Amino acid sequence: MTTVAKLFETMDYGPAPESAAPALEWIKQHGAGQFGHYIGGQWVAPAEGQYFETINPATTTVLARVAQGGAADVDAAVAAARAAAPGWAALAPHARARYLYALAREVQRHSRLLAVLESLDNGKPIRETRDLDIPLVARHFYHHAGWAQLLATEFAGYQPVGVVGQIVPWNFPLLMVAWKVAPALAAGNTIIMKPAEFTPLTALCFAELTREVGLPPGVFNVVTGDGTTGKHLVEHPDVNKIAFTGSTEVGRIIRKATAGTGKKLTLELGGKSPFIVFDDADLDSVVEGVVDAIWFNQGQVCCAGSRLLVHEGIADRLTQKLRARMEKLRVGSPLDKAVDMGAIVAPVQLERIRGLVEKGVEEGAKMWQPSWACPTEGYFYPPTLFTDVSPAATIAQVEIFGPVLVSMTFRTPKEAVELANNTPYGLAASVWTENINLALDVAPKLKAGVVWVNCTNMFDAASGFGGYRESGFGREGGREGMYEYLKADYETRNAEFEMRNDKAGVEKPDAPIPHSAIRIPQSDLPPIDRTYKLFIAGKQARPDQGYSRKITGADGRVLGEVGEGNRKDIRNAVEAAHAADSWVRVSGHGRAQILYYIAENLATRADEYANRIAALTGGGGDAAGREVAAAIARLFTYAAWADKWDGAVHHTPIRGVTLAMQEPIGVLGLIAPEEFPLLGLVSLVAPAIAAGNTVVAVPSEAHPLAATELYTVLEASDLPDGVVNVVTGDKDALDKVLAEHDDVDGVWYCGGAAGAKTVEFAAAANMKRTWVMTRPRDWLDPRQGEGREFLRHASEVKNIWIPYGE
Ligand code: NDP
Repeated sequence: MTTVAKLFETMDYGPAPESAAPALEWIKQHGAGQFGHYIGGQWVAPAEGQYFETINPATTTVLARVAQGGAADVDAAVAAARAAAPGWAALAPHARARYLYALAREVQRHSRLLAVLESLDNGKPIRETRDLDIPLVARHFYHHAGWAQLLATEFAGYQPVGVVGQIVPWNFPLLMVAWKVAPALAAGNTIIMKPAEFTPLTALCFAELTREVGLPPGVFNVVTGDGTTGKHLVEHPDVNKIAFTGSTEVGRIIRKATAGTGKKLTLELGGKSPFIVFDDADLDSVVEGVVDAIWFNQGQVCCAGSRLLVHEGIADRLTQKLRARMEKLRVGSPLDKAVDMGAIVAPVQLERIRGLVEKGVEEGAKMWQPSWACPTEGYFYPPTLFTDVSPAATIAQVEIFGPVLVSMTFRTPKEAVELANNTPYGLAASVWTENINLALDVAPKLKAGVVWVNCTNMFDAASGFGGYRESGFGREGGREGMYEYLKADYETRNAEFEMRNDKAGVEKPDAPIPHSAIRIPQSDLPPIDRTYKLFIAGKQARPDQGYSRKITGADGRVLGEVGEGNRKDIRNAVEAAHAADSWVRVSGHGRAQILYYIAENLATRADEYANRIAALTGGGGDAAGREVAAAIARLFTYAAWADKWDGAVHHTPIRGVTLAMQEPIGVLGLIAPEEFPLLGLVSLVAPAIAAGNTVVAVPSEAHPLAATELYTVLEASDLPDGVVNVVTGDKDALDKVLAEHDDVDGVWYCGGAAGAKTVEFAAAANMKRTWVMTRPRDWLDPRQGEGREFLRHASEVKNIWIPYGE
């Protein structure tokens, strides 16, 4: 007898197509399917008259012809954005809030058109564009209308960065536009957007919406084209910031191209995100989670859960369940509402996936695909599962960016964390367990900007998104995302980008130093033959090469000698800083106690320090006294912050909590400014360690004695060995070593343009965070010399999503 259950099993899906007609009609209305750039509020033909075709990857038919942007087009767009910048920045925040609100409404009004257009151009299922991409686009504009409204109070003392170049990939074409445009506009910047070559249509449609809401001409511009168009934009001298989402490879090129230019940069790059399943997880939920993690958008998702890490006790059972589910997945026309997976964006991407799958098989992993066949018209690829994968295999390390899941097993939570972190990336992770203690123990140990507990691929404008390590830096969304489009109002970049302490200008130890107005009594000076060592792992260490350099005071007398550190000394210091990583587990209160203790010990020797600084710099006794007093106060500031630099619980639309945690970056290299030799150093070291980092500091090259004198203070202050390491010597040489070191997670650099370029360029190798301060700061001014800005640069925000309920 036929039962309902049997009918359910055997029933086939009928077609449920969404009509493409309105979207095709919209394309036709635009110059019969030929699009120019959108510059200064007008559609503009490309200067060189070149166009390229954009196709529907599900059918291979041509959808439209789109302008190929050259240097002249980028110039025109930058000029339009520059011209519009003052007016847009000067607009009352409330007025900008109204525009953003209007854009959110406009996106909602045209949501069906945008969803269909996106599915046609990209190949992703209409279910996803309709239910996820476009609603999130609107949400981003609503959320940032809010930030625009609150700008003056919540971001007091900040101003827009200026003209912003934004480059987005093809996997979430309009969503990436929204993630970049909404905060940029809210902060008061003007924009040149470069959409991906494969998927330019929704960005062009969005340009039209900006016109409909009356956005002033030039505030938002679109230049379409390929990678060379993006390159022109990145290299344009009149662009103040680049925001990029795409491959780590191109991210690295952009990091190098912008090094030393003073351009602000955010990079949202690739990933190889772990999906960790413990043995007590609800396996049926896990299976649905995996579907969302890796078969959503055909796996072409930067944060796709592409590495399934399963407790070995349940691996076979989960594999069986997954295969059964894969057998039921439907691949087909993206416009069919009952389809799970659409088309791969382009033949080149399809080839890449095929190539990597072949490599996986060659390397000995076991490949499984469902029994059914994909449509032959268009670029389709079936869901694919690899088991018996070695952690070192290519498919376990390389971002495939396709519907391919690789599965590995672990025995203990420790092993799971090690496997999870065993890639250069750090974008996202999911953790599946019914044990909340375990989930919350594991989440902070994962190197990832977002951790989803018993869920995956959750996004919201209130929760910043972005990576650790080679997944890039900066966040999109949330308060932290806004800072990426703002600069402190005392700062100026680019046009006024200048260098006070450039190599040539540094007051080298042997350079003539002006005489002090104040005479320092001879008895206060140390013996001439005193030699200061380096400070590594809590001990004074001789420099590797055994060389030292003489340090003369302002009056020309020799005040002492300092060790000449080299590459080996930096390596030892980095090793010591890593060995001290338990510092992160010291409570905020504990860190505060130590910072207070350092301040206390410094205070007892304040006069001695003031005399020493005055002798070194010739800046006068009063100035030196002020510097020491400010250094003590600065230590108090960060002792105060140590237990207050906490995170937030975000209002995201889930039944649960999204915890935004401030995590230290890791090992930071700190290159101190030449001016204010004590205060400058303390201003970098104190926030870094207050936030839980360990550091390798390179003090002022001209006046290192202010730092070397600190050793005894640090030794007497209960600071665990290795938390602060100091290497003196040739700054330019040491900066480079630090910036190139693969085990250094971030570098802060105070100094000249040439040094900044060296640091930013070298940092591209492992995508370490850099913060270059090339403009002189008034370190005595608490607004410039301390506070949240420093703590933000000392931290990564990790968002942990924890849904709850039965
Ligand atoms: P890319 O990183 O090459 O492209 C991203 C964007 O940058 C596109 O708009 C691209 O233009 C542009 N671009 C390319 N080269 C340059 C350059 N030198 N300077 C400035 N802009 C440039 O990604 P692809 O689209 O080529 O995809 C390649 C691989 O990258 C994928 O297989 C996937 O592994 C990964 N990827 C990762 C993404 C992520 O979010 N993590 C997103 C997309 C891809 P154009 O479209 O013309 O190439």
